[in-house]
Amino acid sequence: MNIDLSGKVALVTGASRGIGRETGIRLSQAGAKVVINYNKSQEKAEAVKKEITDAGNEAEICGGDVSNPDDVQKIFDFIREKCKRLDILVNNAGIIKDNLLLSMKLSEWQKVIDTNLNGAFLCTQQAAEMMMAHHSGKIINVSSIGAIRGGRGQTNYAAAKGGLISFTISSAVELAPKGIQINAVLPGMIVTDMSSRVRKRAGDMILEKIPASRFGEPGDIANLIVFLASDGADYITGQAISVDGGLSIA
Ligand code: NAP
Repeated sequence: MNIDLSGKVALVTGASRGIGRETGIRLSQAGAKVVINYNKSQEKAEAVKKEITDAGNEAEICGGDVSNPDDVQKIFDFIREKCKRLDILVNNAGIIKDNLLLSMKLSEWQKVIDTNLNGAFLCTQQAAEMMMAHHSGKIINVSSIGAIRGGRGQTNYAAAKGGLISFTISSAVELAPKGIQINAVLPGMIVTDMSSRVRKRAGDMILEKIPASRFGEPGDIANLIVFLASDGADYITGQAISVDGGLSIA
């Protein structure tokens, strides 16, 4: 199937690095104009924009912390002014602050929920309003296999990512009549900055549990996101899809 996103505008949160970066690039290769959101890594976001525009595709960059309602308002004001419409939202921005349950500080719990879950809520509200104006849109939430498999030191992260799946299911019910599909993608162990410490510490042990016998690459996740952003996925909504080399079934 040939995926053609020409004429569409996509916002990818946390697109300066890792999965978001690759997703932005692949959405642009499929023809979408991509808004690259970042929080701290401005230079990296600029490099992503340059890579996209050097290839003859369209991109804008827009900084902002997705957990901050004022920043989210500014991101969407920027999109309204510069792009006039929004067709695709990828809620990808995420962080980890691992700690064992009994040692976890409330601030570590809150920061992870604020970024991974509340950020997606804030962006989805704004995006859905824009998408409803043309009765179509795709929202893809980047959850995690950690939401359904549990991991030591990740109660905050698992709660946020599990919440994101539940949020996806209920939002899908409300948004389907508006022509908007919303799905969650659950990456397994993907080679990015976020997973570098755990891969160093327990990489061999984790690899043994992956039937595909390799860690995932950002492109493995981006490929599914691009499909879910396309018209070919019009009849898919409210789903949570794992991309983990079989980790979740092993
Ligand atoms: P990463 O390499 O650490 O990149 C995280 C991205 O999120 C960066 O672009 C960062 O931007 C951005 N970000 C963080 N906090 C933000 C905020 N408050 N507002 C806006 N942007 C923010 O992580 P990744 O591995 O690509 O992860 C991407 C998503 O996949 C996350 O939601 C993560 O939970 C999920 N995931 C990853 C894995 C994995 O194995 N890597 C597995 C399952 C799920 P700045 O650098 O500009 O701050």
